Amino acid sequence: CGVFGVVGVTDAANFVALGLHALQHRGQEAGGIVSHDPEQGFNSARRFGYVRDNFTKASLMETLPGPLAIGHVRYSTAGSKGAVIRDVQPFFGEFSMGGAAIAHNGNITNADALRKELIERGSIFQSSSDSECIIHLMARSLQQNIPERMEDALRRVEGAFSIVAMTRTKLIGVRDPLGVRPLVLGKLEGEGWVLSSETCALDIIGAEYVREIEPGEMVVVTADKGVESHFPFRRQSSRFCIFEHVYFSRPDSIIGGRSVYETRRQIGVELAKESPVEADLVCPVPDSGTPAAIGFSQESGIPYAMGIIRNQYMGRTFIEPTEQIRNMGVRLKLNVNRALIKGKRVILVDDSVVRGTTSRKIKEMILDAGAAEVHFRIASPPTAWPCFYGVDTPQRDKLLAATMSEEEMRQHLTVDSLKFISLDGLYRAVGEAKGRNAKCPQYCDACFSGEYPVKPSDQITKGFEL
Ligand code: 5GP
Ligand code: SF4
Ligand code: MG
Repeated sequence: CGVFGVVGVTDAANFVALGLHALQHRGQEAGGIVSHDPEQGFNSARRFGYVRDNFTKASLMETLPGPLAIGHVRYSTAGSKGAVIRDVQPFFGEFSMGGAAIAHNGNITNADALRKELIERGSIFQSSSDSECIIHLMARSLQQNIPERMEDALRRVEGAFSIVAMTRTKLIGVRDPLGVRPLVLGKLEGEGWVLSSETCALDIIGAEYVREIEPGEMVVVTADKGVESHFPFRRQSSRFCIFEHVYFSRPDSIIGGRSVYETRRQIGVELAKESPVEADLVCPVPDSGTPAAIGFSQESGIPYAMGIIRNQYMGRTFIEPTEQIRNMGVRLKLNVNRALIKGKRVILVDDSVVRGTTSRKIKEMILDAGAAEVHFRIASPPTAWPCFYGVDTPQRDKLLAATMSEEEMRQHLTVDSLKFISLDGLYRAVGEAKGRNAKCPQYCDACFSGEYPVKPSDQITKGFEL
């Protein structure tokens, strides 16, 4: 998901709509905005579909006045799949000291247990979302102000959270102690401040990038006092999601001082060093494989070409929640550039192989078009474990790499070669010159290594085996 918030400008909701539009790649099912105006109080709008199809209408935006607003774009990883408007964030709660709204990116790994406990104690849930627990935990806190209630609530929550929240006057940002999901702070001209999942959404509204919210940090931002920061949780070493670098974030975002594009290009360079192959063309599987394909081509000297053309009017296939839509998605979205491919030995570069749906379809399409050889190079290690921290990987038995070796996957996909970047190669590409520190890994890489930095306790209760 993507989260975004603004304080200290006229009509903050318009800025939030733009920010969410720039974060649309993080969630395409639905979006929501809550705003506060001193005269009109809190207002909210939650809609299915793209930001541009909803939050551009004057008739809707006029209902979201005020100098403070937050928003969310949704990609369902927890709660019910498919269309339930009750699950669309931000969530809102009315407390004795006033209202608050929250937008959450990540996944709470003990949400089932918390929900059960809260329901037994009388909470009335409105949605099936894991994030709603936070509101109910806040309602039960005895603290006198909303940021402190939020701290109380979040100390009971396990897993990944990057949160943008608001009260009548305050914009609040929090990251879980491991800092699994991103969150950055930006500054607008005048008194305006911004919180955003990624820096690319600061650019769209002309905000200046200030810094990242640190793992375990809470910031409380007001137009008059600016940013107050504190660290409510026990300090731990951070474990940012390495897959944000590989796929999830936009290539024009900056993470940890590094350009995501440059990291991805570097992954391609590492891949070409680790797994070279003779061929005529390097082609990305667009768009997610593009920077790595450029790096692969530069390092190998094999020409880069657009062998697969993407229809710009389709969304990201994987993010569509049902398998049926995903299966059709590949052909609706990608087509082979036949004239270019015919008779050529082609290296295809993609970011990941999950179920293998994309790679299998693409291989068929490219052989149909008369390619002489097909070599897959993948910009991440084999995805052998599900993510429980906010990326929607399927159950373990659906992951190709959970049951097959690299050679078995190659045979299953019937390609001439298939190579994944090594975990150390990936760490080098993100800037860790010595590779992965096995004793204390610098990132979360659980979907590749099976080493979960936060115990997925709800999943274990449901029978998941580590
Ligand atoms: P597959 O077709 O193997 O099931 O999925 C891999 C494709 O899904 C890749 O092309 C990748 O770009 C895309 N993808 C989209 N969203 C995600 C995600 O959240 N995780 C992973 N691993 N791949 C994703
Ligand atoms: Fe990211 Fe994978 Fe960890 Fe999930 S399991 S947070 S996708 S590295
Ligand atoms: Mg892709």
